[in-house]
Amino acid sequence: VPSSECAQRRSALQSRLIREKFDALIVTAPANVRYLTGFTGSNGMLLILPGEAMLFTDPRYRIQAGQEVSCRVRVAAGPLLQQALMILRKRKSRRVAFERSRMSYEAYQSLKEGLPLKSSAEPVPGWIEQQRMVKSDAEISLIRNSVLTNSRAFDQAIGGLRAGMRERDLAADLDYRMRQLGADGAAFETIVATGPHTALPHARPGDAKLRPNSLLLVDMGASCQGYASDMTRTLFLGRPDPKWKRAYAAVLEAQLAGIAAVKPGVTAGAVDRAARAVLRKHGLERAFVHSTGHGLGLEIHEPPRLGKKDRTELEPGMTVTIEPGVYLADSGGIRIEDTVVVTRNGCDVLTPTPKEIRVL
Ligand code: ZN
Ligand code: ZN
Repeated sequence: VPSSECAQRRSALQSRLIREKFDALIVTAPANVRYLTGFTGSNGMLLILPGEAMLFTDPRYRIQAGQEVSCRVRVAAGPLLQQALMILRKRKSRRVAFERSRMSYEAYQSLKEGLPLKSSAEPVPGWIEQQRMVKSDAEISLIRNSVLTNSRAFDQAIGGLRAGMRERDLAADLDYRMRQLGADGAAFETIVATGPHTALPHARPGDAKLRPNSLLLVDMGASCQGYASDMTRTLFLGRPDPKWKRAYAAVLEAQLAGIAAVKPGVTAGAVDRAARAVLRKHGLERAFVHSTGHGLGLEIHEPPRLGKKDRTELEPGMTVTIEPGVYLADSGGIRIEDTVVVTRNGCDVLTPTPKEIRVL
């Protein structure tokens, strides 16, 4: 992402600061710091003032910050918040905003204690997360690249499935291939589940061996230049049970209905309802225990949430997953997930991996 884009993002945030009559905003969430500055280090704090921005980091990141960041950088040992407080006291900042869902209680106490008496530390909701919902063209092409890298790793690993492989062997193979194909790593812990383990939406890959005549569920995502992808495929090893074949067809129908519902002006909740209605028709609504999808970008889970109650209106440039599933305890589960981008008249499915029923 070009550094001019980071500067634009900062100035949009500064306008909001001025509009809402704040004197400063402290940004602590690493993904938000990265979004606003380009800094990828693990220890950074950004101070946004109406006319300027300052990134604080420690000496380990001196060189890196110089290369990555276009705003002012201050390098100092010790707690970054104390550095920011020195500036805030010098500027006599009165209303100091902080990210309410991102700052620890301990940091909040230090902030409150370090500010002069007439100043206040005020929690603000996800301003930056809200700004991040709509992706720029540069971000969409990074997400597209992440999606393609992820699908390539999946194709390679599935092509190399061997008898006797354990869930953990396949998960390790997927992770290895993602990195080899250019990813920074997995965007989240890769899920590989077989047989009855597929009934756990967030199963951990274990020692279970891939067996003939059972289900295999893989949920994986790459992180490429910071941007996440997310895909789930459920495959049949050997002869599929007719019950699961029917469930697969229902989940696929629900997933396609979810995709068909995505367009600008539609609420996130309406997409969820579209997918859920299909599973209800098939008598599987109660087996669908999570929401239909989520936004993704610099983080794997970002707003909006494609759940019943989310009233966010979709806009062109939002990237979301569509991932209905059904889960039956002790028996198994099926989920199908793609990453899509909202366009001016609908959406583009970025994930190229086929999703017709697949028997290996
Ligand atoms: Zn997923
Ligand atoms: Zn997901």
